[in-house]
Amino acid sequence: APALELLDITAGYDRGTPVLEGISLTVAAGESVGLLGPSGCGKSTLARVAALLHRPWAGTVRLAGREVRGFRHRAPRELRTSVGVVFQQPRLAADPRLTLADTIAEPLRATGRRDEIPDRLPDLAASVGLGGDLLTRRPHEVSDGQLQRACLARALILRPRLLICDEMTAMLDASTTAALVAAVEDHRRAHGTALLAVGHDRVLLKRWCDRVVDFPAG
Ligand code: ADP
Ligand code: ADP
Repeated sequence: APALELLDITAGYDRGTPVLEGISLTVAAGESVGLLGPSGCGKSTLARVAALLHRPWAGTVRLAGREVRGFRHRAPRELRTSVGVVFQQPRLAADPRLTLADTIAEPLRATGRRDEIPDRLPDLAASVGLGGDLLTRRPHEVSDGQLQRACLARALILRPRLLICDEMTAMLDASTTAALVAAVEDHRRAHGTALLAVGHDRVLLKRWCDRVVDFPAG
């Protein structure tokens, strides 16, 4: 089954006009798809629907062939943990009280798998370019790029079937961008992870992804 199927999705906020109307998008198992569009067109809303963080008003979401019936706190754990997500702004996405090591390990703790931390954390941290002293620092002691590396590792630590990167590198310099894209691709090769990369940079997404879709898709 495809990693992700969005079928005829309509979504919005409060009682306003819908942000997404009748949008469909499929990401095959192991495939990487770039979703391209200007700011404000609804890409993040789509990413959050696909990550089960926002309930659509209408339409169907399937992950690995399973239809999603509950979103946010109602999403079953095995569906939630099958999708990893990285956002644009790591400072909004990371708990300021946690060290980078604890940030990365948080999904294992939250799912009662802390015994797997020693197996997974060091290699994964190294793969995103974090080592030694950096892992014991807290967000205010590291750069945006270093914090985003930790957020990427956190999204990968449960080895999700699908990774969603929502403008993951929009705030980062060229060398950090290249390092994070390479880390994602190494992980995808090792684990067969599908990717939905959302962004506005056509050159980056064309270089990175198997296929690029202009928003609105469907
Ligand atoms: P993009 O990621 O393409 O920039 P977004 O999905 O973030 O687009 O936003 C699409 C539209 O939805 C925008 O008009 C934005 O203001 C609105 N929007 C996004 N998030 C919210 C929210 N939490 N509440 C109300 N409106 C929102
Ligand atoms: P609700 O179902 O209460 O309307 P949403 O689906 O809009 O909530 O939001 C889902 C989650 O995403 C919430 O935890 C909220 O804090 C967060 N969120 C809401 N708006 C935004 C936004 N513009 N950008 C990032 N996260 C947001």
